[in-house]
Amino acid sequence: MLDLPPTQRQALWDRVVQAIEEYREGVKDHAVAPRSTPEAIRERLARFDFQEEMDPIAVVDLVVEGLWNDQMHVSHPRYFGLFNPSPTPASIAADALVAAFNPQMATWNHSPFAVETERHLLRQIGTRMGLSPKTLDGTFCTGGAEANHSAILTALTHAFPEFGRLGLRALDDPPLLYISSEGHHSIHKAARLCGLGSLAVREIPVGPDFQMDVAALADRINRDRRAGFAPFLVVATAGTTNAGIVDPIEPIADIAADQGLWLHLDAAWGGAVALVPELRPILAGLDRADSITFDAHKWLSVPMGAGIYFTRHPEILSKTFRTDQAAYMPTQEDALAPFGRSMQWSRRFIGLKVFLSLAVSGWETTATTIRHQMNIGEHLRVSLNESGWNVINPTPLPVSCFQDRKHSQGKTAEYLNAIAHEVVDSGSAWISTTKLGQFGTVLRACITHFQTNLEDVKTLIQTLDQAREQVSRSSRNA
Ligand SMILES: *Cc1c(COP(=O)(O)O)cnc(C)c1O
Repeated sequence: MLDLPPTQRQALWDRVVQAIEEYREGVKDHAVAPRSTPEAIRERLARFDFQEEMDPIAVVDLVVEGLWNDQMHVSHPRYFGLFNPSPTPASIAADALVAAFNPQMATWNHSPFAVETERHLLRQIGTRMGLSPKTLDGTFCTGGAEANHSAILTALTHAFPEFGRLGLRALDDPPLLYISSEGHHSIHKAARLCGLGSLAVREIPVGPDFQMDVAALADRINRDRRAGFAPFLVVATAGTTNAGIVDPIEPIADIAADQGLWLHLDAAWGGAVALVPELRPILAGLDRADSITFDAHKWLSVPMGAGIYFTRHPEILSKTFRTDQAAYMPTQEDALAPFGRSMQWSRRFIGLKVFLSLAVSGWETTATTIRHQMNIGEHLRVSLNESGWNVINPTPLPVSCFQDRKHSQGKTAEYLNAIAHEVVDSGSAWISTTKLGQFGTVLRACITHFQTNLEDVKTLIQTLDQAREQVSRSSRNA
């Protein structure tokens, strides 16, 4: 049965709404991390052979149970993880409305409200970040990976006007792009998907502060030119995934300008601080970027995926993505049709969750929330240091990378992985390990939930201290 009678439909909506509310209210009392095994999940799924029709509410209940039991609860205030937020209620409601109204955003004609809403939103967010309204353009994306991929494509189109028609084979010299060794690997992936190959990505070393070494960048570009390569793009990162490091944007912008290269700023997470007036200097130079990646589904607390690609070259999206008129598409009396301005064709109304969330909260509450998370992040740094954990990464953003000062093995991968494991296993918090330059393995904790508070930080510190005792005890007994 595809449709349901109205009373059953209502019961289905009611059950879903109830499940959403129970999750919102209950998740903070649940273990942050699941203890899933693929066998158990597959066994539960095996009964779905789709031979019999099932009662929709019964299926919803099974799905809700699976979601409760077998996923990382990023909506838990002690998920100190990887930029995955707890979505705001307004943004959840928006995503449900989008599913129900299902606006097709390939063309303006099919969904003028949706297309205009996204356009309006991009201008609001972009100008709030300090981009010039005169040249500002952009598109919503599925996420940062698509936005970064779009950046490489637009940079190629800009540098090599024949690229769209003749492809990479038409270029005289092999093209190269530059990113720091701490930059996001979606750039490397996109370089492959664009047909550039991973060797076209030059990783520039970072200094002791994990920022791109600007002198090394200039030197590398000059050497590459002399060797017959064709540099076309520099990617600066504003808030690395590992450690929240912001590359020196102004000096990198100077080099890009000198060298005539497209400057892309990957601000997927860190871009949010540009929305707060007094924090904007952290990203000074952002307005000089030719294009910017910003993920609303990170620090703006909306459901995945909601990436944004900004550019100050209003023509470049059409130049890059518009194909000759396809006869089956409604005619294009306007230049706004998203299918001709982005990688996607059929499009979901990604912007509505951002629109509704922002309309309900307003800029002032958004700014207050970002300030709050910055303060909690600072409190976490101070508390870690006070408890004998050595915070390594120099960043104003709310992510800490740390090792143990108190334990003789406190800098080893084995010890630190064991600590992370203990913390996760406790169910009380989620943190991870990563590798950071010369320090090797480090623990990593990031403020990602807009409601994480001082009490949560205190609990994390207690959990870490207990993990330290536990790991020390078991290594003594070993
Ligand atoms: C998250 C992130 C990405 C990838 O974005 P997705 O939304 O996961 O596709 C790229 N760059 C940086 C710096 C990020 O933090």
